[in-house]
Parts: sequence; C-alpha cells; structure tokens
Amino acid sequence: MNIAVVCTGTELLKGSTVNSNLARLGAEMTASGIPLALEIAVGDRREEIGGAISSAMKTADVLILCGGLGPTRDDITLDVAASFFGCPLERSPELEKKVVDFWHRIHTGHCPEGQLRQARVPKGGHYLPNPVGSASGLAFSSFYGGRMRHVFLLPGPPTEFVPMMHDHLLPELLELDHDRRFTCGFLAAGVGESFLSKAVEPALENYPVEIAYTAVPEGTKLFLEGDDPQIVSEALERARSSAGEDALPAGVTDLYAYLVSLLAERHLSFGTAESCTGGLIGTLMTDIPGVSAFYKGTIVSYANEVKRDVLGVPQEILDTLGAVSEETASLMARNAARVLNCDCAVSTTGIAGPGGGTPEKPVGLVYVGCFLAGETTVLKLNLRGGREAIRRRAAARAVYQLVKRLRSSNAQLHQNQ
Ligand code: ATP
Ligand code: MG
Repeated sequence: MNIAVVCTGTELLKGSTVNSNLARLGAEMTASGIPLALEIAVGDRREEIGGAISSAMKTADVLILCGGLGPTRDDITLDVAASFFGCPLERSPELEKKVVDFWHRIHTGHCPEGQLRQARVPKGGHYLPNPVGSASGLAFSSFYGGRMRHVFLLPGPPTEFVPMMHDHLLPELLELDHDRRFTCGFLAAGVGESFLSKAVEPALENYPVEIAYTAVPEGTKLFLEGDDPQIVSEALERARSSAGEDALPAGVTDLYAYLVSLLAERHLSFGTAESCTGGLIGTLMTDIPGVSAFYKGTIVSYANEVKRDVLGVPQEILDTLGAVSEETASLMARNAARVLNCDCAVSTTGIAGPGGGTPEKPVGLVYVGCFLAGETTVLKLNLRGGREAIRRRAAARAVYQLVKRLRSSNAQLHQNQ
C-alpha cells in the first residue's frame, strides 16, 4: 500500500518552520513496517494544495494531510480535499458540542459561527479526537481512479499532530491491508559510509534486502529493509558481525545515552574538559534525563589560561607543543577527572575553523583524550566539514573513545590517579 503525505504551510517552504511532523511521522511509520512513499510540502493556497493532492493521488492509496485545519478562512485543507474527492461535508452534532465546549473553556460569550467550521466531517467519514486543541482530525475513504483510497487529515501544530498520530492515525493505518516492509539497523560509531559499505556489502550479497546508509556525526547508520522480518534480522546480524566492534548493539541509536548506560552498569562517574567543542558534550550529556547520577559536568577550557589555571596544563607545554597537541589533550582529560572528582573523563582540543589553521595544524585537526582507570589515551583526528560538523564529530569521537574502552575493559570504581 502506497502512503503519501502532503504538508501544508508556506512557512515550511520558507524554511522558517522545520517540518518536524514529517520527521516524526516518517520515523514512526518506518518503525511500524509501513514506510512513507512520498511527501509533498506546499504553500497554503487552494490551487497549491489541490495540485499537491492531485500529484500524490497518482500513486497513493493512503493520503495524509497535515495542517490547515484551524477555524480561520485561510485554513482550507479540508475544503480542498473534500472537493477533490467529491465528498460532501456534514456538520457532526457530536463534534459541534466539542468545538463549543472547547471555545467556552477559553472564552466567554457565544461561540462564533466560524469556529463551527471545525465541526464538519466528510460524509461517511469520522473524526479523530484532538486531546489538546480545537481542530479534530478527520478520516474518510473515497473511490478514486478505479480504487478505494483512504484520506486522513491532522492539524499542523506538533503538540497536536504527534499525539494524534500515535493514538489514532497509526492504529487506523495498521488496520488497513498492507504489504509490510520491515526495517532495522545499527549505528557503526566512528566510521564513514564507504568504509562501512565495504565491510558489510559482501556479506549481504545474497540477501533480498535494500541497504541504506546515513552519515551522522557519531559515524554511520545502516538500515536494512525487506519483506520478511526473519530475513531482515538475519541479514542485520551478518552485517553487524562484518562491521566488527564499531557496530553498536541493537536498539542503540544515541551514542551519548549508550555511554550513560555503560557508566551505569559499571557504577562510574564521568566528566569532560572541552576546548574546540565549547561545551557541546556537556549539552548533549545533560539532554539525557537522569544523567546527573553519572555526569559531573564539563570544563569549557577555551582559553589557554583556563587550560593552565583550571586544568593544570603547564605553560611550557602550551608554549612549546601548543594547545592543540596530544600532550594537552592528555593532561586535560586526566586533570579533568581530578578536578571534577570523577572516575573517567574525555577532552577535546582542536581547530574547528574556518580560520586558525596552519600547514602544521590545519582546520579539522583535533585531539581527543580519554582518561579511564588510571590510563590516558589520545586520538589524533583529521576531521572534514565546516565548523559545526567538526565540533559535532569531535564530540562524538571523544565520547566513542571512552565507549570503546569501557566495552573492552572491566574498569571498575574510583581509580582516579
Ligand atoms: P491552527 O488551528 O493552529 O491554525 P492548523 O491545523 O491550521 O492549526 P497550521 O495553521 O498549518 O495548522 O499550523 C499551525 C502551526 O503548526 C504553525 O506554527 C506551523 O508552523 C506549525 N506546523 C504546521 N505544519 C507543521 C509541520 N509539518 N511541522 C512542524 N510544524 C508545523
Ligand atoms: Mg492554521
């Protein structure tokens, strides 16, 4: 079954609003085995929405429309869809009561007639309750182009779209008759797409699966998709063993959260000393709920005097070898563990660009240090990309260095010096 989504909103085309509804929907539908086949984003005008529906219906059995269900005259998605499919709109007494009740929760006085536009349901269809806002979702089926099509309309605000997608859209979609596609994958940390493809593709030659790669700052995500869940998971295991130790366990999608789970298993506390990443690791760590039990904090030692005065990197090392050096990264990690009183620590120091590079120390040169169980290791990286990409990759490689060492050791408590 071919599923298309049309997202309405000029702001999506202008780039002032990120199409987060599509991202959520795409991820959840893929996880449910019924991935999206097509998405079209359009402006708010009648002819644009009509044109998008017409294009989508060339192939789609299911059409999901997102946005433009509000009460104002410029909210026209329902009108356009109903007239496209030749489906009359009827006022639902049940929905009318909901709209009026919702109005009275916020306002006093008579509910204006315009609001009752939101009480209309396509003939033969039904509404999908909205737990947060006044615009209900709508669903109807229509015979079009010689076969039955299913149409779902959901409001645009993500706070309304996401719960309605979970509670109503996905369950109703799963009841339709689908050829399921099964997708699974893993994150290969610290490796690029071409490296991963060379490692796994020979092992997957005889499997009827589609392979896709996505580059992320942490490494590469590999996805396999096919019709038979047994075959897809067998292929995934082959791919995983070919990828070696960089393939993280099934279900691990976030390297930082994975680090926290490893620290929790081993009862270890963790801290960071960041120069070129400027606190990014601290931000990503503290995005994880409950991390305070393991994470002590970060020292943003951007200036040399902070590296010297707070982290104890001798001035002589800074003068002779430089702030971007193996020795500085090593001392930053080791001394961060002491200053922050934690069992393990990572550090970053490098040249994120765009300026500041020299022939000896070009943009993208980053050292990441890791202190664990009394031992410090340092990796020298030559990272590509702009400032943002270099910082994100440096953060991930620093954290992955610790993940790798934790996985290969049974480091236990409090060996701080
Ligand atoms: P409302 O009753 O708020 O008007 P609506 O169903 O008419 O709801 P829109 O007017 O299209 O929805 O959008 C409302 C808000 O939701 C806007 O702030 C818009 O930027 C945001 N929004 C709409 N579509 C998306 C989307 N695909 N992803 C993320 N945000 C979106
Ligand atoms: Mg609107």
